[in-house]
Amino acid sequence: MSNVIIGLFGSVGWDRGAQGVAGEGRRLADALGGELHAIVLGNASDDLKQGLQSLCNAVVVADQNGLDDYQPETALAALEQLAKDRGAKAILLGSDTYSQEITPRLAHRLGGSSLADVQAITVEGGSVRATRSSYGGKALSVYEMKLDPAVLWVRARALDTAEGSVGGSVESASVDLPEPKVRITERRVEETDGVSLEDASLIVSGGRGLGGPEPFEELKGLADSIGAVQGASRAACDAGWVPPNWQVGQTGKKVAPELYLAIAISGASQHLLGMGDSKTVAAINTDPDAPIFKHCSFGVVEDYKNVVEPLTEKLKALGA
Ligand code: FAD
Repeated sequence: MSNVIIGLFGSVGWDRGAQGVAGEGRRLADALGGELHAIVLGNASDDLKQGLQSLCNAVVVADQNGLDDYQPETALAALEQLAKDRGAKAILLGSDTYSQEITPRLAHRLGGSSLADVQAITVEGGSVRATRSSYGGKALSVYEMKLDPAVLWVRARALDTAEGSVGGSVESASVDLPEPKVRITERRVEETDGVSLEDASLIVSGGRGLGGPEPFEELKGLADSIGAVQGASRAACDAGWVPPNWQVGQTGKKVAPELYLAIAISGASQHLLGMGDSKTVAAINTDPDAPIFKHCSFGVVEDYKNVVEPLTEKLKALGA
């Protein structure tokens, strides 16, 4: 009962999310003295299979009809059946919406325990402990997962991957699928210009202090000069200055870039919850007491109007 399972949807590919889940799964399996098995639902690309093989003892691909397109009922049934016989102490899923939807339901079906938005996992006295933030990001709580398996969705993109040459087996599995209770009638793909916010390694975010939608154009120039993706605080999104899918935070996107540049954003705890995994944070704000300054490595106390243009010019010159 000390194996670890990671669950992935084939559509993801060997991206930062898959690498983070697999890396954390490998470390946990080693700490427990068990094996790491990956279950991939849907069509697994070659790069996903190869990436998983390097870290997992077994890669199980279930790509039959009914699993090629995500449906909660069928995905749940498949994960339940494939996880049951593997003696799982823990099951890790990523931070995509499918995983978030399925985690508590899978835990219930397997008689296990469940936790969302996990940032770190340890093993103490043979039991799995998971850490997540609480009180809107003001504190960290450590939970002992008393019922096995511990079914957790983790902040996949913020977790380190692992080096590995395990060379696990690849097998295909077939499962009994129920008739789905819901029918998906339409899918709309979120419009993004290239890289999504979640996958971005550089983000330039703007807040209410910008005062309107126009300054976001100026920030676009800055973002373009370094190949960054634009984000925003909820206040800016709620005001209709930028689309809602730019929102970073507790009720928005969880991002983990190398650099997060927060411009005219105060740093409310709900915003910090979405960008707290950034490797480096820099801020521009007129208020020296703005909370964002407690969470950044570099800060400029200044009106953004005096900084953004010269900074953009400087970065363009450096890039050239
Ligand atoms: P403000 O807090 O108004 O800050 C504006 C900042 O701009 C100030 O610090 C000011 O000094 C600075 N400023 C003003 N003029 C200039 C200038 N010319 N140059 C430079 N700086 C300037 N918020 C999120 O962002 N994401 C979420 O997901 C989210 N979820 C929430 C969930 C719940 C349940 C609740 C209750 C709130 C949530 N919020 C979220 C809202 C959050 O509490 C804050 O209200 C919001 O983050 C504030 O956005 P802001 O920093 O842009 O605005």
